[in-house]
Amino acid sequence: MTQTYRITLLPGDGIGPEITAVAKDVLNAVGSQLDLQFEFSEALLGGAAIDATGNPLPHETLEKCKNSDAVLLAAIGGQKWDNLPREQRPETGLLGLRAGMELFANLRPATILPQLIGASTLKREVVEGVDIMVVRELTGGIYFGKPKGVFPTETGEKRGVNTMAYTEAEVDRIARVAFEIARKRGKKICSVDKANVLEVSQLWRDRVIAVSADYSDVELSHLYVDNAAMQLVRAPKQFDTIVTGNLFGDILSDAAAMLTGSIGMLPSASLGAEGPGLYEPVHGSAPDIAGQDKANPLAQVLSAAMMLRYGLNLPEAADRIEKAVTAVLDSGYRTGDIMSEGMTLVGCKKMGEVLLDTL
Ligand code: NAD
Repeated sequence: MTQTYRITLLPGDGIGPEITAVAKDVLNAVGSQLDLQFEFSEALLGGAAIDATGNPLPHETLEKCKNSDAVLLAAIGGQKWDNLPREQRPETGLLGLRAGMELFANLRPATILPQLIGASTLKREVVEGVDIMVVRELTGGIYFGKPKGVFPTETGEKRGVNTMAYTEAEVDRIARVAFEIARKRGKKICSVDKANVLEVSQLWRDRVIAVSADYSDVELSHLYVDNAAMQLVRAPKQFDTIVTGNLFGDILSDAAAMLTGSIGMLPSASLGAEGPGLYEPVHGSAPDIAGQDKANPLAQVLSAAMMLRYGLNLPEAADRIEKAVTAVLDSGYRTGDIMSEGMTLVGCKKMGEVLLDTL
């Protein structure tokens, strides 16, 4: 019997609808090859939702997402909505979605494709072969810890406060996600903290070590965050899976991603303890090229592949998509953002067509 997977699509704003259309076609193609049925249902998020309902995250959207097997988001935002009060902005809808789906683990792969080495700002010999997965804790740490705010002191001077806090349970669950992922990859994990200065980081390190007892097949190492930042640009090939807290992960995942040099190629996933995950490209809604058939759909397509691998446990389908992306690049097709001399410039739609042909 053909298994059916319910996928909520959130095309969002800007280039979102264009790249979502490509990802949907690719999923359907791989589905029919492997006898998998994808049942798609679209919902509104961000600016599109504000225009239609006045709310960047309509109740119906959150419910639909929670009741599906996986959620594939494109991107939200644009100038049109930038001056609205904070609670009505597109970004508030996205943060609300992540919180509402209780997504505490953010997975950001940084893989250098041999065809795009020239796009990196680092030397070929430094980045060739880089394949890193940054696992960032997403719902704890200094972005959420209390007290937070700006308070007057006795002298009347203002003082800004944020609190970096983690409970043992919060560290344990992100560590488990990271060890499971490392197991499916190179079986090496590096936990990044600042345990030499921060008590919260010492607890983080102690718990990661405790959890590692259940994963004797995965090699664990530790780095202080300053050294990790340095090592990422000095010798990135030493890393396989990195696990770290919210603040350090925010910064390191961007640095790791930029080793690849091409924002239109980077997927991501956010996972919760149970329930569906959220899969989305790292880039935004690119309003400067929206509606012009110039967007690179590959980050969205690779996000769909992550959805198959990590959300629906369909590694073969994910492999097929990832191989098709590599093959299309091998054939020399490039959208404007990754264009280089001697390659064939194509638009978003055409990139989708050659992907389907390759599949
Ligand atoms: P952006 O990622 O949208 O664009 C940065 C640059 O990269 C632009 O020049 C754009 O044309 C290019 N680019 C991005 N994706 C591309 C793709 N797939 N193909 C080709 N070129 C691509 O970031 P920005 O300009 O800072 O933000 C634009 C809007 O997107 C803002 O409203 C911002 O808030 C929003 N945003 C949303 C998300 C999200 O939905 N997760 C993330 C970042 C930014």
